[in-house]
Order: sequence, then structure tokens, then C-alpha cells
Amino acid sequence: MKQLTDCQKATIVDALDNIKLPESFTYTMHEPSTVVASIIGYVLNKDIPLKPYRPKWRWSKAVGYRNKGEYIIYYNVYKQSDEAALLGLCVHEIAHMCGYGHGSNCMAWYCNGRKKTKSANVYLERAVKEYLRRNR
Ligand SMILES: [Zn+2]
Repeated sequence: MKQLTDCQKATIVDALDNIKLPESFTYTMHEPSTVVASIIGYVLNKDIPLKPYRPKWRWSKAVGYRNKGEYIIYYNVYKQSDEAALLGLCVHEIAHMCGYGHGSNCMAWYCNGRKKTKSANVYLERAVKEYLRRNR
């Protein structure tokens, strides 16, 4: 199975090292710097399998997903050229793998709970994506 490459891992770590962190995240008592350190530790020490899928609807906006309890990130083949979005997705899912969450399982950007955007998963996904778009 395909995996996150060393180059992609280095890109994620660089982004996480350089983004501005909030005072706190919702859905966790841990300090943002602690959350980021655990994500970086995961990225540097584990294999991160990536599995392509074709969405039923060709124009689906979803970049990817993960099945609960699995340590595989599924990514939409039609979105794979969007490296910033792919790596942002990885950060979101890796935060889950490290034990951080954002409440209900529906996709954050379709939900009304504004606190979700301040969860580690959603905040870091967006911050990493925006950082990569600005700096690449
Ligand atoms: Zn999530």
C-alpha cells in the first residue's frame, strides 16, 4: 500500500512547526503545543498508509476520510494533485489517531457547531493547508 513519503512527512512537520497556534483547542484539555508535538511524533515514527478511492459522485468535495479504528487514510483520487489539501487531511486524521476528536462524526465544515472549527483536527487541517498554499 502507498504511504506518506518522507518528503510529505517533512512538509507536514515544517508546516506544524510554523503555524500560529491558538490559546487552546476545544474537545481537549491538552495544550496546543502538546497536541502538535504528539502529531509530529506520530508522523516521524509511524508508517501512514494512504489508500485511493473513487467517490460515487465524481465531483464530491471530500478530500478523504478514515474508518474509525483503522490507521489508514483514504483519499479521493480526483483530489490527489492538491497536495496542500491532502496533507491537511492527513493532519486531521493523524490528530484522530493520536486520540484527539471533534465530537460528532459528520464532516466538520457541514456542521453547525462552531466549536468544531476550534478542535485540534479542524483547526490544524485548515492552518496546515493555508500555510502550504502560502509557502509553496
Ligand atoms: Zn474528523
